[in-house]
Amino acid sequence: KLHNTILELKGNIRVFCRVRPLLPEDSPGSEGKVLTYPTTMEALGRGIDLLQQGQKFSFTFDKVFTPDAPQEDVFVEISQLVQSALDGYKVCIFAYGQTGSGKTYTMMGKPGQPEQKGLIPRSLEQIFQTRQALQSQGWKYEMQVSMLEIYNETIRDLLSTNRDSSRLDGSNGKQCAIKHDANGNTHVSDLTIVDVRSSREVSFLLDQAARCRSVGKTQMNEQSSRSHFVFTLRISGSNESTEQQVQGVLNLIDLAGSERLSKSGSTGDRLKETQAINKSLSSLSDVIFALAKKEDHVPFRNSKLTYLLQPCLGGDSKTLMFVNISPDPSSVGESLCSLRFASRVN
Ligand code: ADP
Ligand code: MG
Repeated sequence: KLHNTILELKGNIRVFCRVRPLLPEDSPGSEGKVLTYPTTMEALGRGIDLLQQGQKFSFTFDKVFTPDAPQEDVFVEISQLVQSALDGYKVCIFAYGQTGSGKTYTMMGKPGQPEQKGLIPRSLEQIFQTRQALQSQGWKYEMQVSMLEIYNETIRDLLSTNRDSSRLDGSNGKQCAIKHDANGNTHVSDLTIVDVRSSREVSFLLDQAARCRSVGKTQMNEQSSRSHFVFTLRISGSNESTEQQVQGVLNLIDLAGSERLSKSGSTGDRLKETQAINKSLSSLSDVIFALAKKEDHVPFRNSKLTYLLQPCLGGDSKTLMFVNISPDPSSVGESLCSLRFASRVN
């Protein structure tokens, strides 16, 4: 394709592991107790070892970011992937992990700390800068943003100005329609789509979406960690002098917390919620696994998330999964589950 994107992809799916630093609320002095990083030639920067009750579990990913890795270093590793959306590729970047492992930090960063901003704002800045640079070569780009949340297999529009209608799947059981057209574009009925011309306009929309999510939070039991957040940037570019056209999509997804809830806490709504999350995370893994294995049948329709993202997951699209890990000893069981999940899709 265009602008010679050089990507060394193992298939089109890569997995990066990121371990967050110990926080004041974690058990003090537990550095290096659970997670260590092998320094052999072949595992350097790619390997991670987890110790649980004297047993060592070793994993290798495309990249492992240790707790000292700043946001900028993480972005450097994905910037070409982001760039390829301007070349007409469909890109998905996921953050997977238990609640508190650093998914939102990786994606969005820390509010009010510009140097700690995450992948979403950095990606947008880069895309709009590149767009500017490509203008001199005759390229014109149009960009559109949508943001939604999938909670209990229902879709909520985070950019709807009308709160009452933000829930796209009606409580009366009416399902909002997800359609894929022949060009591989996804249409979600009634979803707000906003034309954007600068990364500042997008930050404004991100703030609006964050407010929309937090309204639900008090009503719905920490909903934001129990729902998937899907940010979508659609890019269509055309070059008048060369008559080239490209259509790319960049999806950035902050997944619901992957933790297993204790059986005692799981009754009624909470149980339903947990089942919905488990179902969608396991169907995501099934889909990615089937794609990596080039299987004939890919079970996209088993969850809203995979069906929504279907055109951006198969074919020549590019997928990157971050598996976020907490170094706290109390999380060792969940960390092991996350590493196993990620090595299955890798
Ligand atoms: P999640 O979205 O997975 O629930 P968060 O992103 O909210 O987790 O992270 C939990 C806490 O850890 C937050 O206070 C966040 O600022 C902090 N944190 C996460 N990752 C890092 C990191 N790499 N460096 C510094 N602080 C981090
Ligand atoms: Mg979060």
